Amino acid sequence: MSELSKCFYEVTAGKTCRDLCHPEYATCWISFFESARRLLPGSFKLYITYLLVPPLLKGGGYTWKYWQEQIASYVGVSFKTYLIAVIGLTFQCVFYKMFGKLNYYWVMGFPGFFSTALTKLSSVHLRLQGITYFNMMSEVMLKKSQIGLVKVLRESKLCGTLLFMLFNTWIMEILQQGTVNQFWVLNPVKVRQPDRNSIDDSRVLGTLYPSGYKACSHDKSCDSYIAHGVLKYSAAGFIIEVAGVVITKFPQLYKDPSKFLTGLRKAVTLKLMLGLAAYNGIYRLVRCLLCRHYGMDHPMHNRIASFLCGASYLLYPTYQVFTLAFTKFIEMSWEHLFKTVDNLPEWAWKLKRIPYLRIVHMIAVGYMYHTLVFHSHLSPPFNSKAINYCSDNRVERLKRRLVGWMLDHEWSKA
Ligand SMILES: [Zn+2]
Ligand SMILES: [Zn+2]
Repeated sequence: MSELSKCFYEVTAGKTCRDLCHPEYATCWISFFESARRLLPGSFKLYITYLLVPPLLKGGGYTWKYWQEQIASYVGVSFKTYLIAVIGLTFQCVFYKMFGKLNYYWVMGFPGFFSTALTKLSSVHLRLQGITYFNMMSEVMLKKSQIGLVKVLRESKLCGTLLFMLFNTWIMEILQQGTVNQFWVLNPVKVRQPDRNSIDDSRVLGTLYPSGYKACSHDKSCDSYIAHGVLKYSAAGFIIEVAGVVITKFPQLYKDPSKFLTGLRKAVTLKLMLGLAAYNGIYRLVRCLLCRHYGMDHPMHNRIASFLCGASYLLYPTYQVFTLAFTKFIEMSWEHLFKTVDNLPEWAWKLKRIPYLRIVHMIAVGYMYHTLVFHSHLSPPFNSKAINYCSDNRVERLKRRLVGWMLDHEWSKA
């Protein structure tokens, strides 16, 4: 079977935007009003995780103001995403009218690009969506690439892990220096001078590796510091994984509770939980051991511990984690450069003024819309979920129509 991208124009010859995008609605105007009327719940459903998971991870200290902000943020991002969806679907008709025929890149790609360009998100939500979409776009590009080196890297878990370890070391180094303040899996404690008059009589590390006084930069004893980190990260990994599955399988809960439980048991693999626990555990243990060995903390200890804890990627080797590290690596290096290097040339400062995140967001949304329809086997599950929720499955139906036409086309040739 030939690829959809190759026979698009043969397959869609003589078809209109109504045939492809809205056969259920007689005119483009009705299609527009119906999408405006029907699509609102979809994006609110998509962002339920965003509403519920941060409070669950916060685990306490809720104030009325916190809930107000959390709900306002949820409503804001859901409503803007709804606008992007309605504008995007409407642009399919607009571009059809403009060209007088269906166009390969203007069916899904450019409508996504322009609808995102027209909707202004708050900076927090722009970061959230821009980076999520950029990560998904990198994932698809990695999967699609025909470059020899990328192919090798893609197949090798070991290379992936090694790269993750390097990205992680550099990210943690920047965070340790304190030049860039951004969220990462872990925030390293700043190096402190040891108090040589203090007494360390802890039982586990003190027995294995006695240091006499507290050489580390963290508060509390090394044992409770490590145990606390492992427990906290296990809990976070567990909550994220379970919440994600519960939300996707929620409709089953009242239709067929027993099936829901079996599905839940199968889908929750605990790999994320183990990966996060190992990440934190290895980092803290290595840093404590080094501090105890040298009798003081040093930035090098953070580098060594960060490099080694990156190996926990092997427990949860996914494209999402890899691309997240890759994006953070680029973004933080860029910011670090401007904060630390003096006398940067004029052109570098001009480059800095370009609103990269906004451009990346527009390109990545367009790219992912296009991917879902024309290369759906490469589309990450979240992309399919997001677009189908927000378009009330209209994009899914569009894709099926196209595939149906292609099969008819193949048959007629045979
Ligand atoms: Zn139309
Ligand atoms: Zn310690």
